[in-house]
Amino acid sequence: MDMLTAFDSSASKFPTKNVLVTGDGESLTYENLVDLSRRAATAFAAAGVGEGDRVALMCYNTTGFVIAVLGAWRVGATIVPINHKLAPPEVAQIIGHSGSSLVVIDGSLHACVEGIDIATMTTDTPVPGTPHLEEAIAAAEPLAVSDQAHLDDNSIAEILYTSGTTGLPKGCVHTHRTVTLTAMTAVIGLSMTRDERLLMSVPIWHASPLNNWLLGTLYVGGTVVLEREYHPVAFLKTAAAQRITLCFGPPVIYTTALNSVPDFADYDLSSARAWLYGGGPIGPEVAQRLAAGYRSDNFFQVYGMTETGPVGSVLYPDEQVSKAGSIGRVGLPGVDVRVVTANGEQAYVNQVGEIWIRSATTMIGYLDDPEATRAAIDTDGWYHTGDLARVDDDGYLFIVDRTKDMIITGGENVYSKEVEDALTAHPAIADAAVVGRPHPEWGQTVIAHIVRIDGRDEVPDDLKDFLGDRLARYKIPREFHVAQSLPRTPTGKIQKHLINRSELPAAEL
Ligand code: ATP
Ligand code: MG
Repeated sequence: MDMLTAFDSSASKFPTKNVLVTGDGESLTYENLVDLSRRAATAFAAAGVGEGDRVALMCYNTTGFVIAVLGAWRVGATIVPINHKLAPPEVAQIIGHSGSSLVVIDGSLHACVEGIDIATMTTDTPVPGTPHLEEAIAAAEPLAVSDQAHLDDNSIAEILYTSGTTGLPKGCVHTHRTVTLTAMTAVIGLSMTRDERLLMSVPIWHASPLNNWLLGTLYVGGTVVLEREYHPVAFLKTAAAQRITLCFGPPVIYTTALNSVPDFADYDLSSARAWLYGGGPIGPEVAQRLAAGYRSDNFFQVYGMTETGPVGSVLYPDEQVSKAGSIGRVGLPGVDVRVVTANGEQAYVNQVGEIWIRSATTMIGYLDDPEATRAAIDTDGWYHTGDLARVDDDGYLFIVDRTKDMIITGGENVYSKEVEDALTAHPAIADAAVVGRPHPEWGQTVIAHIVRIDGRDEVPDDLKDFLGDRLARYKIPREFHVAQSLPRTPTGKIQKHLINRSELPAAEL
């Protein structure tokens, strides 16, 4: 079982069908993509890349990225997709940690790797003096099938770095088996067929866009519509013009289009049979706003993480309003999900526990970190997600917080997300992060960092009363810091480990 054979199998069935279409009008058929990726394989081999080597990829959503993925697999290499928004030291850290020997980078991002000692190939925009993938492909012969590496279940397909929400990104090692099963889980879960036209307008290097949606579509012989970068108008235009059937992204891509495009209602989005959103916690208001705004009853909320493929749970369209904000009730086919309390027992109704997931799509471990791997995956194969959830009367899971973000003060559990939701409900507050600070007597105290809508730097006068009406006393922050912005990952998650480090003077309430 390997993803390259699965792709080649689709290509042999649908050679003349478009596999990749871009928002700018470029298109490649399955047979084109086979040919180009074989030539890329020759170019990689000429650059010294072979079995077991690691190829870092730092690209926008371009055909070059997909060609490079398949080309690297043909020579038996492992891909290491890198977030294109990272700063040079972060890129250097991942390239070093992953032991990559070649980086394929969009020419417009080339400055990010200039100081790093690694062989470099640009893609898309050429950079004078640096080898260019598209030029190398034009000059290369396709790698003969007999010269391709032999892949099997256990060949390492990808090292995927987590988002770095709770600390340094961790390298999740996925084999061809876990990656193929992840693609298949999306195919089964969403009943994907060769008629699928998937819109990819969120960064393609992220676990779900890559493994569920790009590879899932290649698996069934569908078409992927690549939008180089998300822009709300282009998103709507391409969705309508390309008659897309599926789309995945964080809720913000849907809300931004809805809120910022004045003629939103004029775009014909009727071809979309499913809008998938997930990646971070979503309140019931957002869930309801989406369903109403798109006048669509085909929203799905998906939950998962890099470590599990990702796979996890799904909240189906008919549950969007009645269970708004929930991540669903059960896992996808082949995926077990449980909520477990601190003493290892199944959580009962309304009790909060940690979500555990067991699935054959789960990574084989964190790269070069057996201790972290043992802490994350138990001997029965359950991955301990670090996400806390409450289960309602009907068995639906509601994410409450991350275990790392829960604050224990005077023996009481405070879920930072609950306090953040209360803070951002205040009309003057745009953004909030709540963290715990060690305290000699209380264990921890609750500290809030807020950003005001009007950019002012005082704490709103009525905030204490406002919170008092909504939260128990022990949950109300003891200190407030007003900031101009909060550190977030490129997918919008607050990086609390960075906030904890900053030492700003506290404002009195
Ligand atoms: P790191 O592990 O480096 O701290 P991360 O956990 O944010 O970063 P990802 O693997 O990209 O990295 O994200 C997975 C996490 O995102 C989950 O563990 C969960 O906290 C959150 N998440 C994903 N989908 C949802 C969802 N639908 N609702 C709530 N939270 C979600
Ligand atoms: Mg994580």
